[in-house]
Amino acid sequence: MTGKIVGNNRFLKEFNQTAILDMIRVHKAISRAELSKLTGLSPTAIGSIVSELLEMGYISESGIGESKGGRRPVLIELKPKSFYTIGIDMDVNYINFVLMDITSWIIEERTLGMPKSLVFKNVMKVIRGEIKKILKDYGITTERLLGIGMSVPGMVDSRDLKIIFAPNMGWEDIDVKDQFEDFSDIKVYVENEAMASAISENWIGTCQGISNFVCVNIKSGIGSGIFIDGKPYRGTSGITGEVGHMVVDSNGSKCRCGNYGCLETIASTTHMVDQAKRLVKSGIASKLNDISDVEDLSPKSIIDCAREGDEVSRNILLESARYLGLAISSIVNILSPQKVVLGKDFVHYSDIVLDHMKEIVMCKALKQTSKDVEITESKLGERASVLGSAIIPLKVFFGK
Ligand SMILES: [Zn+2]
Repeated sequence: MTGKIVGNNRFLKEFNQTAILDMIRVHKAISRAELSKLTGLSPTAIGSIVSELLEMGYISESGIGESKGGRRPVLIELKPKSFYTIGIDMDVNYINFVLMDITSWIIEERTLGMPKSLVFKNVMKVIRGEIKKILKDYGITTERLLGIGMSVPGMVDSRDLKIIFAPNMGWEDIDVKDQFEDFSDIKVYVENEAMASAISENWIGTCQGISNFVCVNIKSGIGSGIFIDGKPYRGTSGITGEVGHMVVDSNGSKCRCGNYGCLETIASTTHMVDQAKRLVKSGIASKLNDISDVEDLSPKSIIDCAREGDEVSRNILLESARYLGLAISSIVNILSPQKVVLGKDFVHYSDIVLDHMKEIVMCKALKQTSKDVEITESKLGERASVLGSAIIPLKVFFGK
């Protein structure tokens, strides 16, 4: 909280409850006296709000704090396992679920296979079934569910709960709201997966307290989530951060978006695998030949071979990183972020390519924009977007 709360007007009650709850979240354990001092609300007003929050079950009295003369104060904190959120993240091969409680504690993580057909209705049937199963397994009633967040690898309208275009999934113009009728009393949120990653990096990851940063996710596609002045940047259309469709090679191959030479066509894991297959078929000397069927080649086989010293595999990874570096140098020049966090599949090979990529950014971006930028891998790894999906309802609950 930056400013003091003004007045004890009863119309501000709900606002004040949210602000006090967020202050308890930020401080983890805090006394009534400290809350009064920090907010400017009278001890009586704080006492009344804290009593209400205790009664509603959001907080609990946790222990005794340090005395500053006189009686030692009772500390209050968010009550673990009192209220929950569920996050869902998906891609072509999987659907990830996470159950989180009001303290951002991860209670449970599950992964299911994505239905082969990718038909949205079938996918939602699996998702609805698993949500019910999670709630049943943990004995959670829907009254104690603060919301459900879902992240999608594609363009979404987070305000109207619509998937606009998810080319990898073959989804276009889909109304998500209709699919959650079983949970009509629960608030549902839909977010782009890279923005969901940025949200989790900001809430529990490497970008806590950082106002300007970009999370770039590299996997079968490439996307980014941008935070400016501490908030997700949505632009005019609501769709931003489509770095995967930045043209980096005007003579390049056709992209799924219809354009040519997009970053995705040259730096995604899909491209890496295609390139590896091409090289193996052309008869190049490489450890990649040890894989009995060329069609079984995967990003993991390229990374494994690179680690075993295979130059061909290493060069595939470095080439991808070079183009990523070029794109990131443009991002750095345009936005001047404090941090660029690289996530998803990138974390599996960042030790091989990160230094090379940083050199390219430092060489290509303007000295003035790049001198203070930190380029790093995500410590949340592949889980960033599913965690971010669960965090979205929490952010709303805490008025963020
Ligand atoms: Zn494209």
